Amino acid sequence: MQSGIVSRFAPSPTGFLHPGHALSAGIVALRAQASPGGRFLLRIEDIDGTRCRPEYTAAILEDLAWLGLRWDTPVRHQSQHFAEYRAALDTLEARGLLYPCFCTRKQILAEIAAAGGAPHGFDGAIYPGTCRSLSHSERQARIAAGEAYALRLDIAAACQQAGGWPLGWHDEHHGPQTVTPALLTTGFGDIVLARKETPASYHLCVTHDDALQGVTLISRGEDLLPATHLHRLLQALFGWPVPAYAHHRLLADAGGERMAKRRNAQSLRDLRSAGATPAEIWTGVGLDPAAFR
Ligand code: GLU
Repeated sequence: MQSGIVSRFAPSPTGFLHPGHALSAGIVALRAQASPGGRFLLRIEDIDGTRCRPEYTAAILEDLAWLGLRWDTPVRHQSQHFAEYRAALDTLEARGLLYPCFCTRKQILAEIAAAGGAPHGFDGAIYPGTCRSLSHSERQARIAAGEAYALRLDIAAACQQAGGWPLGWHDEHHGPQTVTPALLTTGFGDIVLARKETPASYHLCVTHDDALQGVTLISRGEDLLPATHLHRLLQALFGWPVPAYAHHRLLADAGGERMAKRRNAQSLRDLRSAGATPAEIWTGVGLDPAAFR
C-alpha cells in the first residue's frame, strides 16, 4: 500500500480562526490531497486550560468544515492525553534533564534587572538559571512545603546527552537548517516544559504528537521556525523521526501587521457574517477555491 504525506493542522483554541489560519490549513490539506495515500490530520492543541475554551474548539471545527476542508478522524485533543506527556516528562526527568524551578515571573525579572539585563532568546529573556543549582534536599523540602514550581529543561545537559551535533533539518522555503548547542543555549536557555496550571508545554506536546501520529510534513507559519530548532533537540533526545518542514509566509492585516488572534485580527466568523463566501476567503489568502470544493 502506498503511504503518502501525513500532514496536520494544529490550532490552539484560544480564539476564533482568522484568514491566516485558513491559509495554514489550506496549504496542509492541499499537500495531503496531492499525495497519493496522503492524510490530513487535525489536532486541537488545548493544553493550556487557562487560555483554551471548548467554544473555540467547536468554532474551529465548524469554520474548517464551512471552508470545505475534510480531515481524518478521530481528531486528537491534547487535553485528553496528559498522561502521555507526563510519561515523556518522566523520561527526561529520569535522565536528569529536568529540574524544578520555584521562581515567580517577578523574581526572574528582578534577578535579570540586578544582573544588568539578560540576553534575549527567541521567546524573550533567557532564564538566568537560578534554580538549576539548588541541592536535591532543598528541592525536596520546597516541594514538600507545597511551593509551586515549573519543570525546566537543563539545556546544556540535554545538548550533551543528545549528541550527533550539529543536528540538521530541512525547510522547503528556508533551506537546510543547522542546530548547535550554542544556538539552543542562546535562543532558548532552560525553557519551561511543564508548570502547575499547564502540565506540559507546547514544545513537548507538539513534538511528541507529531512523532506519535507519524506526521511526515509540518507546514505552519514562519513565526514558528525558531521553535523547530528546539523541537529538533527533543527529537534527538527521544529518538523521534525528523519530518519535512515548510514554514510559510504569514498574512498581514489591513494595517500591515501580522495577523494574530491577540491583535484581534478579523475572524473567519466575522467575515462570514459580513457575507463572505468560502471561495472569497480562499482567493483572499491566495489559494485556489476550486481545490476545496
Ligand atoms: N498550536 C500552535 C498554534 O496554534 C501551532 C502548532 C504547530 O503548528 O506546530 O500556534
